Amino acid sequence: MTQPTLTRSWVASANGHRDFPLQNLPLGVFSINGSAPRSGVAIGDSILDLHAALDEFEGEARRAVEATAGGQLNSFFELGRGPRVALRERLLELLAEGSKLQTREAQVLHRAVDCQMHLPAKISDYTDFYVGIEHAQNVGKLFRPDNPLLPNYKYVPIGYHGRASTIRPSGTEVRRPKGQTLPAGQTEPTFGPCARLDYELELGIWIGPGNAMGDAIAIGDAAEHIAGFCLLNDWSARDIQAWEYQPLGPFLSKSFITSISPWVVTAEALEPFRKAQPARPEGDPQPLPYLLDNRDQNAGALDIELEVLLTTASMREQNLPAHRLALSNTQHMYWTAAQMVAHHSVNGCQLQAGDLFGSGTLSGPQPGQFGSLLEITEGGKKTIELASGEVRKFLEDGDEIILRARCRREGFASIGFGECRGTVVAAH
Ligand code: CA
Repeated sequence: MTQPTLTRSWVASANGHRDFPLQNLPLGVFSINGSAPRSGVAIGDSILDLHAALDEFEGEARRAVEATAGGQLNSFFELGRGPRVALRERLLELLAEGSKLQTREAQVLHRAVDCQMHLPAKISDYTDFYVGIEHAQNVGKLFRPDNPLLPNYKYVPIGYHGRASTIRPSGTEVRRPKGQTLPAGQTEPTFGPCARLDYELELGIWIGPGNAMGDAIAIGDAAEHIAGFCLLNDWSARDIQAWEYQPLGPFLSKSFITSISPWVVTAEALEPFRKAQPARPEGDPQPLPYLLDNRDQNAGALDIELEVLLTTASMREQNLPAHRLALSNTQHMYWTAAQMVAHHSVNGCQLQAGDLFGSGTLSGPQPGQFGSLLEITEGGKKTIELASGEVRKFLEDGDEIILRARCRREGFASIGFGECRGTVVAAH
C-alpha cells in the first residue's frame, strides 16, 4: 500500500503533526471523564472514538471496529491483517479533507488532552528479547572485554520470559524498587532501595493471531502475526540484577514495572519505513533455515529513529529543556521482528493475540546512541552533566525518562509513536 502522502485531513492539527498525521492512524484505548475505557484512533491532537462512529463502517472494516469493543484490542489483534487493512482504508476516507464525517466532529472526536490512555490490550505474556547487538556488545564488554558476545548470540534470538502483570501505560509513576544487593567488596547482601536505577530503550511488538500450542509459526508467515508496534521502557535495577541474574537471568530487577507508549502503530503505517535487514558482517553465520526468509531479509527491518530524553525535578522547575540521552535507530536489531516470532514459536510455544515482545535495548555503536545509563556511564564510572548543574550516573527520585520514535523518508509524511514517559518516585 502506498502512503497517501498528499492527502490532508479535516482535523487541522493532523496536518504536519509530529506523531499522528493522517498517514499514521494508530489504535489505542482511552477513557474520558471517568467513562469506561473504549477504543480510539489518534489523529493530530484528537482521538476518534471508534464506537461513536461505528455506523460509518461496513463489511470487514465494521468487523474490525466491533472487535475493538470492550476496552481491549485483543480480539482486533486476533483478526489479523485483512480487517485491519480494511479499517485503515475506511479511516483514510473518513478523516480525509472533504469527508462528511466532519459534520459529526463534536460527536466522534475528543481532544487527546482531555482523555486518559490505558493499556491497549490484556497482556497474557510478555517476552523480552536481546536483539540490539550494539547493546549486547557494550554490556558484554563491561563484563568480558575480550569476548563481549557469547557464542550463541549469532544463532539464537536471545530472550527471557518477562512479567506481564506490571506493564503500564506511559505516565505511570515508577516506584523505586527495594531488593537484595551485594555491596562492592562485601560477601553478604543487604536489603534496601535500588541505588542503580536505569531505563532501557526498546521497541515493543504486539502479537496478532498467534498459534495453537504445538504448532510453529513459519518465518514466511511470521509478519502476519504482528499486530503493531509501540515504545517500551524496560526499567532495570542494576544492583539487584547484578546479584540475582546468575544462573537463570533477570528476575525482580526487571519485574517492578515496564512502561509502554499507549498507541499501537500498525505494520501498514510503517510500510514506507521498511528496510532490508542489514547484511551480517563477514564471518557471521547465516540464520538457520527456520529463521531465514527472503522477503523478511529484503524488507523485514524497520528504519525508526529512537530518542531518549531526561528531565530532573530541578530542570522542570527552572523550565530547562529536556536533556537528550540518546538518539538511536531500530536498524541496530540483529534479528527482525519476524525472526523473533518464528523463533519463539518453533518449539510449539503458544503465542496469543495481545502478547507483547520487547526487542531488547536498541543502542547504536557511537556515544550519544546508547539506550541505557549502564552503557552511557559504563556501569557508573562516568557522570552525565546536566544544564541544571546536576550530575547523574543512575536515576534519582523525580527524574523523568521520555522515549520518542519517529519515521522519516524523503517523499513521505513523517509519523511518530507518541511518547513513553515515566517519573521515578521514592521507594515506599
Ligand atoms: Ca531489556
